[in-house]
Amino acid sequence: MIPRELIEDIRNRSDIVQVISEYVPLKKRGRSYLGLCPFHSEKTASFTVSQEKQLFHCFGCGEGGNVFSFLMKIEGISFAEAAAELGEKLGVKVSQPLASSGVSTSEKERLYSTMLLAARFFRAAFEAEAGRPARDYLAGRGVNEAAAKTFGLGYAPHSWDSLFKHLIGRGVAPAVIERAGLVLARENQDGYYDRFRHRLIFPVCDLRGRVIAFSGRALDDSEPKYLNSPETPVYQKGETLFGLNLAREAVKKEKTAVLVEGNLDTVSVHQGGRLNVTAPLGTALTAAQCKLLGRFADTLVLAFDADAAGEAAAERSAEIIRSQGLKARIAVWTGAKDPDELIKKQGAGAFDQAVAQALPYLEFKLRRVLARFRLDEIEGRSQALRETARVLGGEPDDFARQEYARSVAARLKVEPETVLTEVKRQSYYDRGNEKDLRRVTEKPGSRRAAAEKQLLALAAAVPGIATELKRELTVQDFTGPEAGRIAAVLFNGALDESAELSHQVLARLTDEADQRYLTGALLGEQLGNPAELLRDCIAVIKNDGARRRIEALKQELKEAEQRRDGPKIRELIAALKNEIY
Ligand SMILES: [Zn+2]
Repeated sequence: MIPRELIEDIRNRSDIVQVISEYVPLKKRGRSYLGLCPFHSEKTASFTVSQEKQLFHCFGCGEGGNVFSFLMKIEGISFAEAAAELGEKLGVKVSQPLASSGVSTSEKERLYSTMLLAARFFRAAFEAEAGRPARDYLAGRGVNEAAAKTFGLGYAPHSWDSLFKHLIGRGVAPAVIERAGLVLARENQDGYYDRFRHRLIFPVCDLRGRVIAFSGRALDDSEPKYLNSPETPVYQKGETLFGLNLAREAVKKEKTAVLVEGNLDTVSVHQGGRLNVTAPLGTALTAAQCKLLGRFADTLVLAFDADAAGEAAAERSAEIIRSQGLKARIAVWTGAKDPDELIKKQGAGAFDQAVAQALPYLEFKLRRVLARFRLDEIEGRSQALRETARVLGGEPDDFARQEYARSVAARLKVEPETVLTEVKRQSYYDRGNEKDLRRVTEKPGSRRAAAEKQLLALAAAVPGIATELKRELTVQDFTGPEAGRIAAVLFNGALDESAELSHQVLARLTDEADQRYLTGALLGEQLGNPAELLRDCIAVIKNDGARRRIEALKQELKEAEQRRDGPKIRELIAALKNEIY
């Protein structure tokens, strides 16, 4: 365990605004900082960071917490790792407790260290005499030694169990090697064999540079040509991008990431001097991958293969990118099938130019749609009008929609108004649906729930309020599930009122829902001064409590009257009078 004082010290000395700014552009708005939430996609900023309170909260999706929770969520790391990362920045040494935070962390740590051993084994094999086929293949593809080293490329030997034996020799348990996806159990249950054999190995790393998977390219006619690690507790295919650990800084600097299809494309482009390049791992681009890139970039340039399949993939990917609130551009070129070939034939400059001149998504999409129809015929133009209007209807920006409508109109030889009218006609139905949806999801918050929240925020922020609250209310007066648990901590938590109260309370809340609730309350709007607020909120809760008791008594009275239970009726009437006067 990391000592509590050390944690407090790191938190006190870190500035949450500075830390979050490295991931999310923030603007000062009043007493807080606002930005677009990195945890859900949004177009208007509801992600709030308070320097004064050293907390963040998203009023859109409810995510919230302190500087540690932010790093844990955005980097997908444990509390200990977040503390170590922050500590490192401040020059505070935090020893990594390898197995302190439960079984799952130590299980992951075992997998990380096994993958690292495997990566070193593949790398050594690559450099040894046996690795010649891999080296020859790379040389044939024009990859130089420096690039091979940067990406840690390796070679899986032509053998059934050389990796397995190597890892066993290093004391790794067979079950761990299997869970890491490095070996497969033999069918007769008699031992294991290596998954990767006689392949060029591309290590796949997470953002912290830890090896989490491998992608192996066959060096003979074996199928499949590319073999990837299965998903494991440390590797989720749809949430990882090849080379992003190396591209990250350049992506951040340029606010742009270039996406290519293959691992070798990534290496070639990187070798050509463009560092902000990464690749989805042999799958279609996912929303999670876009979200990950969205932490560093606002624009993604797709440089997929220049064939029908590549174009279709680019179109699908661009839609996913836009659904995550990012801009999508598509690089086009001629005379080469993929970036690797383009660079080989025409030089790195040709690829740079293709990236610089990449088409905005809408332009690319409209060109593709228009190319499908015969624009020299009326029927063709009419179909093209409907199809392009559908594309334009999906564009949220008015200006862009109108400008593109103008250019489509010119190509279809009609008035811009004709195109815009068609867009309006088509979007009418969609918008109707959206409104209905909003009505269903917007629930009016009850006054009592708001009062409970407000009181907990006050008590967690201002020393002394909790004590005052205890005189007036009990834990049971907080009826919301989160409110009840937070009240229990505030009332019975033995808090040290001199230290920062809100952070102490947050640290004691084990349920994530409770943490979100409290950060939302703490960063929410405060109406009026604390003393008035306290009085008003207590009154709301007490009145509501009385109302509920009266309702219950009336119900009981009705039942007693049906039973003609005289003594009970008299007792209930007395109780009712007592509540009312
Ligand atoms: Zn959010």
